[in-house]
Amino acid sequence: MKRRPAASARLLALNILQETQRQHKFVQQLTDEELRTGDLPPVEARLTTHLVYGVLRRRATLDALLRPCLQRPWREIEPWLRDCLRLGAYQLTFLSRIPPHAAVHETVELATQWGRPRAKRFLNAVLRRVSEILTPEASSEPAADALPMEDGVFRKLTRPVFPDPTAQPGDYLAAAMSWPRWLAERWLTRYGWLECLRLGFWFVQPPPLWLRANRCRITRDELLRQLQLAGFTAHAGEYPEAIRLDDSANVRDLPGYADGWFSVQDESAMRAAAAVMPEPGWRVLDLCAAPGGKSTHLAELMNNHGQIVACDASAERLRTVDDLARRLGLTIITTHDVSKGLPAGPFDAALVDVPCTNTGVLGRRPEVRWRLKPDSFARLLPLQTKLLLEAAERVRPGGVIVYSTCSIEPEENEGLIHEVLARVPWLRREEEALAIPGRPADGGYWVRLRRD
Ligand code: SAM
Repeated sequence: MKRRPAASARLLALNILQETQRQHKFVQQLTDEELRTGDLPPVEARLTTHLVYGVLRRRATLDALLRPCLQRPWREIEPWLRDCLRLGAYQLTFLSRIPPHAAVHETVELATQWGRPRAKRFLNAVLRRVSEILTPEASSEPAADALPMEDGVFRKLTRPVFPDPTAQPGDYLAAAMSWPRWLAERWLTRYGWLECLRLGFWFVQPPPLWLRANRCRITRDELLRQLQLAGFTAHAGEYPEAIRLDDSANVRDLPGYADGWFSVQDESAMRAAAAVMPEPGWRVLDLCAAPGGKSTHLAELMNNHGQIVACDASAERLRTVDDLARRLGLTIITTHDVSKGLPAGPFDAALVDVPCTNTGVLGRRPEVRWRLKPDSFARLLPLQTKLLLEAAERVRPGGVIVYSTCSIEPEENEGLIHEVLARVPWLRREEEALAIPGRPADGGYWVRLRRD
């Protein structure tokens, strides 16, 4: 399919949604790239981002709403037209600030902008049927005719569109919370019904924006004061440098961005570098470092004194580590492309923040849920184990190795560590923690190992 020139927020959103199915890039990267070339005013650019993330987070739910409004099977509808329907249904359902007639009209116009004006009548008819299913009535009970909105609130529908939650809880979660069916069954077995509902609501909402105050430049209290002075509602997190922002904001517009007062990082991710407990003057290996959130955190914890070798397999993503370190004023980070071989030890400590299934961050990385496969865990384990051992071998006796993921799956967390410790007698576990999504930040795992 040839891509059309972008002329509106919705057309750009359609381009990006189509691209996420063709390219294996992060949706954030695709959105940034498209917005850079799209040249939209800021309000329109925000709408594009909202639509893309919203449609991806709610894809299966939108499909469940749309199916009864179609007169032909879903599989017979062309991919671009499916995304148009999802965009229209998303606006009708979840974007109350857009009047329904405008949501339908603007979506129908996409057909012309995409070069397929004959689809206009079809889009118009289906979206009108969708708006007839929706009611303004709220409820607090999951049901086949209740659409999960946010924070435990459902919107009543005029007819059932989801499987019955009592008879088919896995199918219900897959459709109403937009999870792959196999993941819904997996989590239902592990967490039970009520916790799955809570997770479902957490993962369909935009996650809060967390900042990490750069202690080499500013205290958290002073940053909080500056944010509040600038009119933002911000709170101290539990982690000493963490700040949660209640408002959505373009981070470049926050006070002190250019001066490196903070970086954006989820609170649970802050705990991984902290678990290394690095000391100023140490030599630290960060084996999977890009885009640099944890490398820069390590440098801050070391008061920018010592050396951090920030490695990654992606030279392109390593540039973001350099850029971030520069903005934060951190000079002890050296980036290293592992395709040129691994750096030689010994290191005082290593952090191994491995590529993982990302199941702890489904709200932040909405494309992940549609790319994960039941065998993704098994496929990643050999690489994760190899990376952990490569790092551990380069740490001096008595040194520390922290292994971390943003996954909540036992196989790639405790399970992998159990396997490695059974085989490697010179490593021992000191401490570990699993962050549960939404309590209060994203999900993830870290373990601190000691080399004997
Ligand atoms: N620690 C980073 C941070 O906090 O910003 C995030 C790291 S991300 C979870 C995992 C990284 O591992 C990706 O940037 C990916 O390019 C990198 N990676 C994948 N395979 C690798 C390998 N064989 N060696 C080193 N890095 C690898």
